[in-house]
Amino acid sequence: MTTPHDFLARHHLPNRWQEKDRFVLLQFDFADGADFLQAWQMWQQDPQRSQRFYYFAMINAASLAACPLPELTTLHAELAGKWPALQRGFQRIHLENGTLILTLMWGEPLAQLRSLNATLDAADLNTPDLSTAHYKALWRLSGTSTRVVTCKKYGEAHLKSAGYLLEDFGDYLAGPCMRPPFDKSPKHPHHAMIIGAGLAGVSIAERLAARGWKIDLLEAQSEIATQSSGNHAGLFHPGASRDDNISARLSRAGCAETRQHLAKLPSEGVDAFFGIDGILQVAKDDAQARLMQDIAKNFPPEILSWMAQDAAAAQVGERPSHGGWWFPQGGWANPASVCHASLALWPEQIQLHCNSHVAHLVQTPDGWRALGLDGLALAAAPVLIIANATEALALLPKLELPLSKTLRSTTLIPALAVPRYSLTGSGYITPAFRGYRCIGAAEVSNGNLSFAEQRNLAELQALLPALAPSQSAGSRACYRPNSLDRLPLAGALPDPQSITGAIHQLHQIPRLKNAYCLLGLGSRGLSWATLAAETLACQLNQDPIPIETDLQQAIDPARFLLRKYRHNNNFPV
Ligand SMILES: Cc1cc2nc3c(=O)[nH]c(=O)nc-3n(C[C@H](O)[C@H](O)[C@H](O)COP(=O)(O)OP(=O)(O)OC[C@H]3O[C@@H](n4cnc5c(N)ncnc54)[C@H](O)[C@@H]3O)c2cc1C
Repeated sequence: MTTPHDFLARHHLPNRWQEKDRFVLLQFDFADGADFLQAWQMWQQDPQRSQRFYYFAMINAASLAACPLPELTTLHAELAGKWPALQRGFQRIHLENGTLILTLMWGEPLAQLRSLNATLDAADLNTPDLSTAHYKALWRLSGTSTRVVTCKKYGEAHLKSAGYLLEDFGDYLAGPCMRPPFDKSPKHPHHAMIIGAGLAGVSIAERLAARGWKIDLLEAQSEIATQSSGNHAGLFHPGASRDDNISARLSRAGCAETRQHLAKLPSEGVDAFFGIDGILQVAKDDAQARLMQDIAKNFPPEILSWMAQDAAAAQVGERPSHGGWWFPQGGWANPASVCHASLALWPEQIQLHCNSHVAHLVQTPDGWRALGLDGLALAAAPVLIIANATEALALLPKLELPLSKTLRSTTLIPALAVPRYSLTGSGYITPAFRGYRCIGAAEVSNGNLSFAEQRNLAELQALLPALAPSQSAGSRACYRPNSLDRLPLAGALPDPQSITGAIHQLHQIPRLKNAYCLLGLGSRGLSWATLAAETLACQLNQDPIPIETDLQQAIDPARFLLRKYRHNNNFPV
């Protein structure tokens, strides 16, 4: 049992985090949260604190314990207000305007430890239930600056054999890792050139600028967010599946990140228009209704619950065709305003170049140069990030990027009073914004937008059969940038031309030097963009990856090449 400040003294805090870009601490047992709250308070009050503080903690109880120390009630209340309904995996709580991130790791501890991709500054081994496998996993997270603190009786021999040089401080042991794994993460100058200023490009610009990077953001149009991200309004809510698959977990993490990002956007000046007021996902038929009812049993109501038809009718003010899932934290946003407000957070660091259509990319000894149609240079930077949706295929044709696009439509209708909430199913309807509701997103076949408009109106009628038919106030068509497996592509770009040997693992695939992408946001741009951008920014900046390793691998741009080479079991010679 530690007494107040024992924890901080054992980790040599505040000294160890001072003047650093980031400080990363992993605690094996969050317990009653006293250690975290003390660290938070000290970090908050320290003018020399690190720019960011990542605190990872394994959780053994789903709810936050009562405040352990009277002087910490204010911080405890703030934490309690943000405490999520815990689900397996990592859940991030943004504090101090996103500069302090508490990641709750919920699930089997060894699996959680193996899911982490970070280099630790401090590890607090405050639990007795550790095996050799835990110590091996810990070693993988160690670097030259890692210092572990452990109680004398917890695995001293294991730690020594893993290369930790432990010093005896009486009631605990502490010391560095003398032979950490070789650090292969790329180190880049903090300057990137981003191609495309829709949700993807703006999100990665914002996440890197928040870390002090200088950004050149190149956009072909005269304005940002005019293509896929130019819709009047869109919806976001997590997905769910019986087996809690990758897509469901990623969308849950993505929506949580989107919500926390939206909350940081300015409420004055450059306004972002959004709401987090709940969404009803209506079942398409009786069979799907039964399935959804069953799956809902696996979730806490804070994430989703089954709403039978009568209850759903009472909730939304109009009878839907079936019952459905109620997502209390589902939301809507006007994507262009979110993009404008996100850029406005970092005016000094992000230089926007509109009317800058990038026709060619040239690799130089210093990085990359973007050329316009006239062959003249538009910008140059050490790091390149491709975020121009499916136009990336034209820009980098040799990379075999697994992208496709479909022409989709949205239709504006007058601001009806009901339904009181957003609905989704085979179509969707948003709340009213600037006098209109937005419905979508039927495919536009053979360029026939008026047919797609009729489909949108018909889908609305299918969701709410008793609703008086609506009149269209105009429709727009634009391409939806899909990936072949409907997951985003965020990470280092593969270089298939350089494959010379057998490929069995993602890390064996050669990458294009200093070139990254954020693509394939598909129909879930609002759910994916912030989290995918944060993941990429962390990768570029050597910050801990915000998602579990299997999720990171699932959005690795090289995953399709891996499948191809594994499947064919061959390689070009
Ligand atoms: C009809 C429809 C309805 C949708 N509804 C929803 C919804 O309800 N919820 C949701 O979450 N998502 C929805 N989506 C998906 C969402 O809109 C997209 O996932 C998201 O906008 C994609 O953002 P992006 O930045 O990748 O692409 P874009 O917004 O298309 O941005 C790419 C940018 O790159 C620029 N560009 C292209 N080539 C170049 C070049 N060579 N040089 C410089 N710039 C270039 C383009 O001009 C563009 O601004 C919908 C999409 C459609 C089409």
